[in-house]
Formats: sequence, structure tokens, C-alpha cells
Amino acid sequence: MVDSRQVKEILLGLGADLCGIASIDRFHDAPKGYHPTDVLPTCKSVISFACRFPAGTLSCNSPVPYTRVRNSITPKMDAIALDFCIEMEKHHIACVPIPTNENQWDENMGRWRSIISQKHAAQAAGLGTIGRHSLLITPEFGSMVWLGAVLCEQELECDELKENICDNCNACVKACPVNALADSELAQQTCWDYAFGDDVATQTWVIRCHQCRDVCPYNLGTENLFIKKMNP
Ligand code: SF4
Ligand code: SF4
Repeated sequence: MVDSRQVKEILLGLGADLCGIASIDRFHDAPKGYHPTDVLPTCKSVISFACRFPAGTLSCNSPVPYTRVRNSITPKMDAIALDFCIEMEKHHIACVPIPTNENQWDENMGRWRSIISQKHAAQAAGLGTIGRHSLLITPEFGSMVWLGAVLCEQELECDELKENICDNCNACVKACPVNALADSELAQQTCWDYAFGDDVATQTWVIRCHQCRDVCPYNLGTENLFIKKMNP
């Protein structure tokens, strides 16, 4: 038997910066096919974790550092999830790692998505709340985090939900060069068509837009507005 505190100790020891736990009843409104029990029928808890994404990458003139961090943080998250599951198995608890990135095509929605939504799992596990820019905002690091999740067969004590952090200031909506945030749901293909592609200057594939992150007052690393409000 492993309790919630031990689960967090293991994850933090493996390199996660934040982690939280959601009970399965917090996923009652998950879309059909994307509920945790659609993946693991015996799932009782969803463990979500986050790793910091260096905020300095937002200020670079070159798109290469942001792209490189994004490309290297994904396998890091997958490795943490995998190692965590193996560790839990040593305690005779079955866990299943969820791939970090969107990795399957949803014909109905016409977009790529993860087998369960990482950011909804993170919100259900009390890590933060989803902002207007469609990213998770955490009190500690704003949206400068990448998310991972693990499905677990054991019932674990779950974390409290966070109160909404986004101010609905609409700065992200106005900043988007292609109006991908005009509707309440992110127009994923419009965003990706603009944000991802080959860079002429560096002759590499890059992520060339993160303006919705840049302008959010909660994205200034540890200087984010949430912390300023809490510690005036
Ligand atoms: S990444 Fe760029 S294109 Fe995509 S939603 Fe944000 S601002 Fe718009
Ligand atoms: S820029 Fe404003 S509206 Fe957009 S996510 Fe941040 S706080 Fe919310």
C-alpha cells in the first residue's frame, strides 16, 4: 500500500516539480472515449504532474531555444511517468502512463488529442486552472509547465481544486495573430498551421508563436501575478 504523500514523494524524486491527485469521480464530464476508465477500466485515481518550462525561452529572438526545450521536455515527462509506474508496481499497484503529447487523431473533433486530456487531468488534480488561452495556469509557475499523467488502480486521497486563476483580461485573445482564440474552444489547426513550421533563418522545424503565453500576466515565471497578489 502506498499513500498520497508517498506517491508525491516518488514523483518529485523522479524530477516532477508539481503533482496532484484526482479521484475518478472528477472525470464525469470527460468526452466519450477519453475518460480515464476508457483507457484503464479499473482506474480509481489520476495522478497528474508538471515540470517547469524555463520562462526565459519566451524572451528569445530565436525560436530555437523554446522549440528545443519543448522537444526535450516531452520525453523527459514520458520517462518520469514510466519510471513512476515501475516504482508503483514494486508496491504491487498497477499504474499506466499517459503519453505527454497529443498522439491520436479525433475524427469527430477534427483535431489531435491525448488519450485523456492532460490539462483537464491537471485541473482535476488541483494543479491549477485552465485559462482563456486554453493552457493550464498554476499558482507556482503560471503556464510555464509541461504536463504528464498516470492512471492508477488504487484509491488515493485527492487534492483540493484550485479557484479560477485566469482574469479573463482577453490579452491572449487579442494577441493571437490568427484569431485562434476567438471562440471559447481553441481553433487547434489554425494555431498549429501558424505556430509550427520550418524556419528560413535556421533551416529547422520550429515553434514560432507563443504569443498567448507571452502576454498572460500569469506567465512571468515565479514573478507571476498570482504570487504578487498573494504577497503584495
Ligand atoms: S500559439 Fe500563437 S497562434 Fe496559437 S493560439 Fe497562441 S497566439 Fe494564437
Ligand atoms: S492573458 Fe488574461 S484572459 Fe488570457 S489566460 Fe491570461 S489572464 Fe486569462
